[in-house]
Amino acid sequence: MIELEQVRALDRDDPLAEVLSLFQMPESVIYLDGNSLGALPKAASLRIAEIVEKEWGDGLIRSWGDADWYTKPLELGDRIGQLTGAAPGQIAVTDSISVNLFKLVCAALEMRPGRRHLITEEGNFPSDIYVLQGIERFWPGVRVSLIGRDGTLEDLLDDDVAAVLITGVDFRTGAAHNMQAMTERVQAAGALMIWDLAHSAGALPVALDAIGADMAVGCTYKYLNAGPGAPAFLYVARRHQAVARNPISGWFGHTDPFAFAVDYEPADDIRQFMAGTPPIVSFGGLEASLDIWKSVSMDDVRRKSMAMGDLFIDLVEALDPGFGFRLASPREADRRGSQVSFRHPEGLAIMRALIDRGVIGDFREPDILRFGFTPLTLSYEDVWNAVAVLKDIMERGTWRQMRQARGQEVT
Ligand SMILES: *Cc1c(COP(=O)(O)O)cnc(C)c1O
Repeated sequence: MIELEQVRALDRDDPLAEVLSLFQMPESVIYLDGNSLGALPKAASLRIAEIVEKEWGDGLIRSWGDADWYTKPLELGDRIGQLTGAAPGQIAVTDSISVNLFKLVCAALEMRPGRRHLITEEGNFPSDIYVLQGIERFWPGVRVSLIGRDGTLEDLLDDDVAAVLITGVDFRTGAAHNMQAMTERVQAAGALMIWDLAHSAGALPVALDAIGADMAVGCTYKYLNAGPGAPAFLYVARRHQAVARNPISGWFGHTDPFAFAVDYEPADDIRQFMAGTPPIVSFGGLEASLDIWKSVSMDDVRRKSMAMGDLFIDLVEALDPGFGFRLASPREADRRGSQVSFRHPEGLAIMRALIDRGVIGDFREPDILRFGFTPLTLSYEDVWNAVAVLKDIMERGTWRQMRQARGQEVT
């Protein structure tokens, strides 16, 4: 039995304890969905207001230079590189993951002439699969295989494979891939390795350069707390930048956008992978968040994330086994990202009941209750309290009233 006193002791020893107060969080909420939409850094409101009122309101178009709007996508990219093991000059903050994947996968196909096979996972985030299916429709000869549905990676990795796209941490189960081992296997087959870091960046240590990744994408509104609709990022290893070509050859990827030349000439660096005007106001949220990230150690974040996940699993499994929860995530913390999922046939109604009580997680079909553990915004006692609410809902059966609930949205 774990006692509340032990949990409070963990909070007293938490090197990240001070960081929690830098985020806005309603009193009545225990937020276990920071893996889907990160919480608001308090400084973001001020920074965004400053961009709107000073840089836009007063600076007007002069702010492209005076407020560094033009260089910001690469400057912020370098800062994300510090969290993902990428040396400067390889990451741009731009567009959405979906659009960035289109750009990178097309570039990869062109870099592997004669190879027309793309591989991803059946369990990948649907948009990643959809983008590959779109390329398959428009690009003659391209075919897409899904690990799971069509076989194992070993089965599928033939000498026609141009690129393999894998999400580092599975969005449903939280299972984490061994990125180094998979990158080596894919590259040994002559293909390019593209990583989706949506559930990795800000969740666990990533070493893009060290593992020799070819390309990567990730988002800033999940574990990086940049706010709804904040842009994604993309990584192209420096060794590929002279040959990789962006199919969305917009003016922001041009070597001199403000020369307004007739013919497209790509920038010779990562800027080439931008397309159009960046979302300047959203950068305010990302800047405020990265300021916080600058002050924390990723090792502390990872240690607390694993401990919170373990605590949650232990507490849920100590409940009455008759409640019927089955762990869907790896039990070993080092094989998980920063979330824990449980299966339950009535998962949707139970999640609605939790949200009704202020414990916000989410649900993924067919039966997965998903709980994100974001060390910068949660205490160990929050984990304890969340499970206490879950216990109460199960004991009293209040989730039954939520089977037919309407207007109670679970994302
Ligand atoms: C959240 C997520 C996305 C979202 O993509 P956008 O195009 O930025 O909305 C894509 N892929 C994965 C794996 C995700 O988790």
